[in-house]
Amino acid sequence: STQIQLVQRPHGWPEPSDFRTAEVTYGDVQPGHVRVRNEFISVDPYMRGRMMDTRSYVPPFQIGETMTGGAVGRVVESAVDDLPVGTLVLHQFGWRDIAQESADGFRAVPEPPAGHPSSVYLGVLGLTGFTAYVGLLDIAQFTENDVVFVSGAAGAVGTIVGQIAKLKGSPRVIGSAGSKEKVEVLTAKYSYDVAFDYKTAPVRRQLAQAAPDGIDVYFDNVGGDHLEAALDAFNDGGRAALCGAISQYNSTSRPEGPDNMANIITRGLTLRGFIVAKHSDLMSAFNREMSQWLADGEVDYDETVVDGIGNSADAFIGMMRGQNTGKMVVKV
Ligand code: NDP
Repeated sequence: STQIQLVQRPHGWPEPSDFRTAEVTYGDVQPGHVRVRNEFISVDPYMRGRMMDTRSYVPPFQIGETMTGGAVGRVVESAVDDLPVGTLVLHQFGWRDIAQESADGFRAVPEPPAGHPSSVYLGVLGLTGFTAYVGLLDIAQFTENDVVFVSGAAGAVGTIVGQIAKLKGSPRVIGSAGSKEKVEVLTAKYSYDVAFDYKTAPVRRQLAQAAPDGIDVYFDNVGGDHLEAALDAFNDGGRAALCGAISQYNSTSRPEGPDNMANIITRGLTLRGFIVAKHSDLMSAFNREMSQWLADGEVDYDETVVDGIGNSADAFIGMMRGQNTGKMVVKV
């Protein structure tokens, strides 16, 4: 099995030399185990945190060991009755082409809807779609007529947030992303009413122009200057779902705090962080609504597909640098 291992903890931006490709040989499939050939593996921003040896909600990756993460694959050898050969499974043994582990670690999923690749279980029908759903509807308590601002809008989570907000009745959804092409995709394909490139002018100024009547909900994927701009733009009683802070994941110094935190008090704002894995109570509602939206063509998605397990580290670094539109996956 070809597997990607961490050789040293990245300092600042991750480099290809922080990773290595190793060949691992498995023995026979033991009772209670399965062998799975991965079809797609996921590279996600939260993995940057796992490359550090710090306390978080998931344990750090160990130096010299194969990393883990979301993956979808097919059972090719089985020593259990309920996961026969051919079953499509979702699991956490990513960063490798073949996974051979106890069957407990794998969950059977139905074949993807006609016309969609199995990678949808890592994106729109998986944890990223679910993150968008939970963050907007539960954490930020979105209600129709809320004006919504989304940062990281052209990414895996962001493309879905904008569409859900429009489907649920938002009169105005504003997105920011890091290139002219992404900004165009947001309005052309993802129902965003307005979008801007955060690299061309200060976010504060661009958001004020895009939201002359203020915002009610902010879905924060970025932190830093984006959060500061949102705090300025908020109407009274505004709500933010703090989903991620990717602008800070590779920084080597402690970020400065927003300079306008007092707005939280004076405007009665609610800022609430969340970890999607702790909201599984909403999973069945999400599966029902998102499968229907996908079937009806009401929700669209993009994937940036990198070919070959050996290119996984480059895919991860590329995603952190913004080379993806929608979900970044590696095709094994
Ligand atoms: P994306 O598909 O959005 O990929 C990351 C994107 O971040 C890049 O494409 C890049 O786009 C953007 N980016 C990188 N650096 C910066 C920067 N300095 N400022 C602004 N944008 C930047 O990833 P995901 O959709 O998977 O994740 C989005 C966010 O959601 C992340 O912060 C992640 O940690 C968080 N998350 C949180 C979860 C939770 O449970 N709370 C679960 C899943 C994700 P661009 O070209 O626009 O710069």
